[in-house]
Amino acid sequence: MDEGLNNILIVGAGPVGAVCALALQQQGIAARVLEARPADARVDTRILALSHGSQLILDRLGVWDRLADVTPITRIHISQRGALGVARLAAEDVDVPALGYVLPYAVLTAALKQALADSRIAVEYGVAVDRIVPGAEAAALHAADGRTLAAPLVVVADGGRGDAAPAPKFERNYEQMAVVCEVQTELPHANQAFERFTPEGPAALLPKGDRYALVWTADNADAQRIAALPDEAFLAALYRHFGGRQGLFLHASPRKTFPLRLAYTGSEAADRVVRIGNAAQTLHPVAGQGFNIGLRDAWELASLCGDTPPEALGSAAMLAAYARGRRVDVIGGLGFTDFLVRVFSNDIAPLRHARGLGLLALEVFPPLKSFVARRMIFGARG
Ligand SMILES: Cc1cc2nc3c(=O)[nH]c(=O)nc-3n(C[C@H](O)[C@H](O)[C@H](O)COP(=O)(O)OP(=O)(O)OC[C@H]3O[C@@H](n4cnc5c(N)ncnc54)[C@H](O)[C@@H]3O)c2cc1C
Repeated sequence: MDEGLNNILIVGAGPVGAVCALALQQQGIAARVLEARPADARVDTRILALSHGSQLILDRLGVWDRLADVTPITRIHISQRGALGVARLAAEDVDVPALGYVLPYAVLTAALKQALADSRIAVEYGVAVDRIVPGAEAAALHAADGRTLAAPLVVVADGGRGDAAPAPKFERNYEQMAVVCEVQTELPHANQAFERFTPEGPAALLPKGDRYALVWTADNADAQRIAALPDEAFLAALYRHFGGRQGLFLHASPRKTFPLRLAYTGSEAADRVVRIGNAAQTLHPVAGQGFNIGLRDAWELASLCGDTPPEALGSAAMLAAYARGRRVDVIGGLGFTDFLVRVFSNDIAPLRHARGLGLLALEVFPPLKSFVARRMIFGARG
């Protein structure tokens, strides 16, 4: 069954699709969202690290105050195992209340879902989009329930999981996995995060409630082995890996793993179709960039739509302007993340020393410290 022409159709009500719909509404543009998951689906337990910049976006959309279970990061301690060099970043270095925030994906998606409902944005849950057909005047969505919907602009925010996702323009498989869980340490976290680089891969402790969220990366076989360790052996291995800055590791929740890769598909999809968030790029979590870049995608696209005359929404010129506007931030975030993973995940002596010098420079050279902190908060600017 064919339906009339919509304004903008969004595929996926994950954080990026939901933020896009809310930001479009602030621009006075109605969007309709199709989400494959049923309204009452349980989402997974992943933990997100939000930058101060993402916090500002959520605040402007009226979502920030709805969030519970948010833990601020006011300091970040960066080190490498078995070598000199420590750098510390603090919120006051860049004059912000927090460098970032840690919260469960489930909390964010629930708050966004409520905000969508309160704003009376049309969201259809349990409707998967099977196929998108581009066109000169409008793109058509074919939903699994048999309907076809058309709009001058279709925004794909499906996390890159749609069957029809194009092949990435650039891809790197790090052959690494992240082992994630929550851990309790002997010493309280005092809102300090740790990023520790080791030859096997980076590991991060992010303050969450009265515990830490752990992201421990290792090559695929090691990660599977680590995740399968019984609690006591896991806690002892973590102590050996991370060191004793937080005292002993006392307790760990069940471990989960997920594969890490870099994939850059880009926003350019086809006529009248644009990809944003994880649908456009997937990053290694080492620098906490991926999710935050996705939110900026959504925000910038909505702003551009607001600045575009209604008859030009989704035009080739508008989509080219969007791609141009996002290039520096996205490619900068991809490059920065890839650089960190590749330069820090090895034990080559000259690199080890260079890394030590780099961390030292970061520690003692305030403009560099401010540059790195600002990049992690706001992304790269053109
Ligand atoms: C297993 C896993 C663990 C992660 N852990 C972390 C972490 O610890 N820290 C961190 O910062 N980031 C993490 N990330 C990355 C983070 O989750 C993403 O950056 C973020 O979720 C991107 O948001 P998004 O809205 O683009 O995509 P998603 O959150 O994936 O949302 C996409 C939405 O689209 C819907 N959808 C998919 N296909 C269709 C379709 N055909 N039709 C309609 N709807 C569809 C999905 O149901 C979903 O609701 C993780 C990612 C994964 C996959």
